[in-house]
Formats: sequence, structure tokens, C-alpha cells
Amino acid sequence: FFFGSMSRLGTFLRKSPKYIFGAATISGGAYLYQWKSFEFFFDEPHPEDKPRLVVLGTGWAAMSLLSEIDCEKYNVSIVSPRNYFVFTPFLPCTTVGTIEWNHCIESVRRVLFRFRKRAKYYEAAASDIDFENNKVTCSDVLKKDDDPTKSFELPYEQLVIALGADNNTFNTKGVYEHATFLKSLEDAKAIRKRILNNFEQAALPSTTEEERRRLLHFVIVGGGPTGVEFAAELHDYVHDDLSKYFAKECKKYLKITIVEGMDRVLNAFDKEIAKYTQEKFKRNGVEVITKTFVTGVGGETIDFMDARTKERTTHPHGLVVWATGITTKPVVKGFMSKLGTHQKNARALTVDGRLTVKGCTNVYGIGDCSTIQCEKLETLLDSLWNQQEYVKDGGLTFETFQKFVADHRKQHVQLDFLGDRLEQLFEKHDTEKNALLSKSEFKKLIQEADSKITALPPTAQVAAQQGSYIAQRLNHLGDTRHSVMPFAYNHRGSFAYVGSDEAVYDSDMIKLKGGAAFWGRNTAYLSKLFSWESKRNIMWDLFWSKWFGRDIATY
Ligand SMILES: Cc1cc2nc3c(=O)[nH]c(=O)nc-3n(C[C@H](O)[C@H](O)[C@H](O)COP(=O)(O)OP(=O)(O)OC[C@H]3O[C@@H](n4cnc5c(N)ncnc54)[C@H](O)[C@@H]3O)c2cc1C
Repeated sequence: FFFGSMSRLGTFLRKSPKYIFGAATISGGAYLYQWKSFEFFFDEPHPEDKPRLVVLGTGWAAMSLLSEIDCEKYNVSIVSPRNYFVFTPFLPCTTVGTIEWNHCIESVRRVLFRFRKRAKYYEAAASDIDFENNKVTCSDVLKKDDDPTKSFELPYEQLVIALGADNNTFNTKGVYEHATFLKSLEDAKAIRKRILNNFEQAALPSTTEEERRRLLHFVIVGGGPTGVEFAAELHDYVHDDLSKYFAKECKKYLKITIVEGMDRVLNAFDKEIAKYTQEKFKRNGVEVITKTFVTGVGGETIDFMDARTKERTTHPHGLVVWATGITTKPVVKGFMSKLGTHQKNARALTVDGRLTVKGCTNVYGIGDCSTIQCEKLETLLDSLWNQQEYVKDGGLTFETFQKFVADHRKQHVQLDFLGDRLEQLFEKHDTEKNALLSKSEFKKLIQEADSKITALPPTAQVAAQQGSYIAQRLNHLGDTRHSVMPFAYNHRGSFAYVGSDEAVYDSDMIKLKGGAAFWGRNTAYLSKLFSWESKRNIMWDLFWSKWFGRDIATY
């Protein structure tokens, strides 16, 4: 078959030189045109008459905005110390080499060119936001000293803050010194190096048994999607690759532990999915310790406290990965303090339903750095209670309560997050046990919803949708025919990889576990990458690591 095909190809090439010449000329011309236009693409000066839009950040929120913003309407400037976008859902894969780290990033300049967005990018960090004079101070991140001449100011008419968030250690002793985070590419590289170094050290004849046990105990703090995915990737790496190259003994000492403060992992997912994940981990030998807090991290030990009994224990570790909690960045905190009483939530930049920063008119906050202040349901209680379609016989039945939630979840995001707990909440607040919620019982229920669920989850999905919303808002600014609806989050479900080519998927309509969810996850993530180049690289990595193994060299 092979030789037959080759000979047919040879005959075709000999007989059709004009087609080949034509195709080569067209492709060559297209290629040259592309690179010629590229050469001058970023050189065009910003025209004076357009309003200036400054975007801080190059993460999910900012890149989604930039892909949709109309650069004919604004002089767009982007500021970020990172000249690339990180596709975070694949970051846990890079810690063990399932995907190469440079394949899950995209250059900001290339993305701008691909979308033909004539915007200026500055590799700098925003250090101060002066909303009274409409300017941002930025500093050169590559400078060696605190030279003030290395900072510059960017004036703006519109400002978008998409600065993301920092890791939250909850003031736990020793986390910065001895644990590793999993938020950036540098973190992923450091984790990979540490895993391999620990295995190499454990394999030395001079290493004692006790030391081997310590080196190969990997502790993951936080049972959210990031912690779960890292544990799953680490399990696969050890079982598929490292166990082949290191003495069987190393596998004997290996221990992977997830420590979670709540009563289960994947707390934001459906209960059944969390149960499935924990059972899967049990089968794979990954230990899950729930209702336990980490109280301190040392160079070689980690302290746990059982939330129920308050009993404290100390365990040796070879690596601690801190995968829980986020907090406000210092530059955002500084900006919030200038806004005084407009910013009452210390945990994030408060924005209104249209994502405008409270206390400003031309500054928007999107992604992990911001939180939407929802209109409290409690203040609407009287008008809600008077709606005849829900209140029957002086109260709400479970069916009318369900209908009420379904009808109002678009406007009141806190209802959206009651998720699968409706029955549980109804039962809890039906104190008279008459299958009917009276007004006072209903008030208590919505107070609970108001108090607990006031923020959207800090996910790429939320950030990307907010970026897209602000792009549309800015594109239509001043257009009286275009009314701006409040931002409505559309949850499209969440994936988490749980190991051995299995994943879980949770959405309002569909719940998936196993191989189908794994392929669904890969397809969904690949479709979200900006370039075909990244899609090709990642598909290749997934195929290669599956069939030929991951890299085990330390560099
Ligand atoms: C390992 C991991 C896996 C994840 N997996 C998922 C997932 O599967 N699904 C999901 O929905 N979410 C996931 N997330 C969450 C998701 O990545 C975040 O919610 C998302 O990145 C938030 O986007 P953002 O634009 O607000 O912030 P970021 O993406 O963090 O971007 C912040 C940007 O601000 C820039 N910046 C920082 N400081 C400054 C400064 N001083 N001046 C200028 N720029 C600055 C940064 O360089 C960066 O470009 C994951 C997160 C992690 C860490």
C-alpha cells in the first residue's frame, strides 16, 4: 500500500507541475503578506481623537475582553508583568509533564496580532491607581533597583482592572517559606523539579528508610478542583512513568495526601460526584483527610488539626502544595482604601451589577479581583411575597419555591448558587413541618442565601464572561439604542480530572463521571485555546505522554 501510494504521488507530481507551482505561489504570497503586515502592525501611533482605554492584566478576564474590544473606538493599552496568557485549567498537567509548560501559554502580542487588535502592550506592573486624576502608575518589572525614573504614567478615559488575586495562606505559619503554590508557570516548574529531586534523593543508597518515607510524602492542602487535579496528575505520573524508572521500593514509600477543611473534596460539585472522586482516590491509594485544617508548615513536617476533636498531629513531608484560597493584591487593596466607604468588602474590589467599581464611573473590575454586590433578596421580600403565582394558602410549597428560584435565578445570582440544596434548605427552614414556608420561614431562608452566597466563584469561566461583557459594554458606550443589562453569569458546568483517564463534570443539567467526562474535558479545553498552534501542541502532548511516557529529567 505504501509503495503504491508513493508511486501514485510521484506520477501526480510529474504530471501536474502547474498546479503545484500555483499552490506554492499562493501559499508563499499569503505567508509573506501575513508577515509583512505583521512587521508594521504594532508601529501605528495611537490617533489623538480616540478615548484611551487601559486594561490591567493579561489573564482570563483581560484576554477575553481584548479579543472582543473594538480597537477602532479606543486607543487600547495593556499593562501586565506577564507577556503571556496562561491557560490555567491545564496548569496541573504541566507539573508532571503531561503537557509541556510552554504549550499552555500564549504570547499576548501574538494573540493581539491574530485578532488584529491594534493595542499597545507594556511589560510592567501597575503600582498605583489614581482615579481622581484618571491615571495609572506603572513600574518596569525588569529593573534592578527602585529607580523612580523607571516608572511611567498612563492616563485613561476608561480603565479595566483585571489583576486576578494572590494566594491566601490564612496566616498559616510557614506556608510562604516551605510550601509551593500552584498558580503560575514558575510554580508548576518548581513542583516538577521538586518531585523528581525527591525521587532521585530517595533512590540514593545513603538515604534512610525514614527519610525516604518523608521525601515521598506529597501533601496537597485544599480539596478543590486544583488540589484534586494535581493529586490525580501526580498519581498518574508515579504509576505510569516514575515506577518504571525507579526501584519498586520508591513506590512502596510513596504517599499522596489531600487535606480538606470541609467534609468532602470538590465542595462546589454535586455530592455524588464528590463521593465518586473520593472512592476513586481510595482505589488509587490517594489519602483524603477531611474536616482537618493545616495549622503550620515546616521544612520537613506539617501540622494538622482535626476540626471536630481539635486534636493536633505532625507529619513528615517531602512537598506541600498549597492549593486553597485567594486574597486581594496589594495594588487593588491600595485602590480600595482610596475609595473609602464605597469599598466595604476587604476581600475583593466591589463592583455593581454592571461591573463598574463602586465609587467610580469609568473604572470596571472583572475576574478574580472583583466581587459583585448583589441586591439583597431580603429587601425585596414584601414584593416577592405578594406575587400570587408563588404564594398559596399563605405560604410557599416546595414546588412553588422551586419555581420561584427558577424564575429569579437570572436576576439574583445568590439563587443560582443554591444549586442542588433546595430540598435540604426547604426542609431546614420549614420549622412547623407543614410542607409550607410561611413568610417568616421564607425570610430566614433568603437571609441564609443572602449571607452565604454573595460572590461568583473565582473561575476562568466567570472571568472570561465578565471580560466579554465589558468589551460589549465599552463597544456600545454612548449608544442610546443599546441598553445595558446587568451582568448575568451563565454557568456551563465544571470539569475536574480525577486520574487514570477519568474526569468528572457537573452542570445544572448533566453530571458525568469517568472516561466520557475525560474526553469531554479535553475537547472543551482545547476549544477554548486561542491559537491552532496551541491546540496542536497540546493534542500532541496528550498523545505522546499517554503512549510514550512523560519526561523524567530534572532541569
Ligand atoms: C491551577 C489552576 C487551575 C484552574 N483551573 C480552572 C478550571 O479548570 N476552570 C476554571 O473555570 N477556572 C480554573 N482556575 C481559576 C482561573 O484560572 C481563575 O479564576 C482565572 O485565572 C481568573 O482570571 P483573572 O483574569 O481574573 O486573573 P488571572 O488569570 O490570574 O490574571 C491576572 C493578570 O493580572 C496580571 N497582573 C498581576 N499583577 C499585576 C500588576 N500589578 N499590574 C498589572 N498586571 C498584573 C497577571 O500577570 C495576570 O496577567 C484555575 C486556577 C488555577 C490556579
